[in-house]
Amino acid sequence: MKLLGITGDPLGHSLSPVLHNWAFGETGFAGLYLAWPVPAKNLANFFLAVRTLGILGGNITIPHKVAAMNFVDKLSSVAKKIGAINTFYWRDELLCGENTDVSGFMKPIGGRNFVHALVLGAGGAARAVVAGLKELGIPKIDIANRSPAKAKILADEFGVCAIPWEERQDLNVDLIVNATSQGMQGAQADSSPYPAEAFAGRHGLVYDLVYNPLETRLLREASRAGWETQNGLRMFVEQAREAFRLWTGVEMPLAGAEELLKGILGKKRN
Ligand code: NAP
Repeated sequence: MKLLGITGDPLGHSLSPVLHNWAFGETGFAGLYLAWPVPAKNLANFFLAVRTLGILGGNITIPHKVAAMNFVDKLSSVAKKIGAINTFYWRDELLCGENTDVSGFMKPIGGRNFVHALVLGAGGAARAVVAGLKELGIPKIDIANRSPAKAKILADEFGVCAIPWEERQDLNVDLIVNATSQGMQGAQADSSPYPAEAFAGRHGLVYDLVYNPLETRLLREASRAGWETQNGLRMFVEQAREAFRLWTGVEMPLAGAEELLKGILGKKRN
């Protein structure tokens, strides 16, 4: 039986344990995935335990995604570009760091042609989004963030443009990505990062990284105005599937994984 898990602080909300333990059952891989809440001051000790106990791999979440890079032996080129890791795994006796959020983000929109993308937000998830959009070759990418300085730093780093938050609805874009926490279950559940009236007369795809709830106010308003919508569930599942592949060499079934999480998130809402 191999041991894996997720570390972050706090960890109460994570769906990763239920998803990966389900996948071990489905695939017959003998693994156990636990939740390890670890405060920042103990992160070095956590990685010592990973090496000492022969832990097969794991995930890193907020607030350790950047600091964890210091405790692995090797970083992928994507991880270096993003400056954060969400997954660690062993290869040739080296502990490797990877960021599977980028490929996870791209999966639902790969192969589609967009001309002008607007990214709302400039936090950790927005970094993965901008890297993914660049990788997909989208010709024009703009970033708007409530705190403009953060948008400018991210835009300069990736060679795209930062625009004022107040002007986000003035652009004629065909892809809008919400990488803010607006719309997430909790205090921000009823808020949207984009004014509903600005959808009128335009068409495109709104991709909300939020997956809890599955339908945010942003997606509801976009859909009503005739825009295509994509929630964050597929991204979450795909980043997990990529990590699972790195640890086990085995494929986590996509449709079953989505059904499992839809069931859990549906129950949470009711
Ligand atoms: P983060 O680093 O804390 O960044 C949060 C972002 O939201 C910042 O840009 C922040 O702007 C903005 N924001 C927060 N409250 C706002 C408000 N009231 N009005 C406007 N902007 C506001 O968080 P993160 O890790 O990037 O996560 C962002 C979202 O992506 C979360 O909803 C998370 O659940 C989702 N996510 C989904 C997946 C997935 O697999 N689907 C993966 C990662 C993240 P300021 O800079 O001005 O504070």
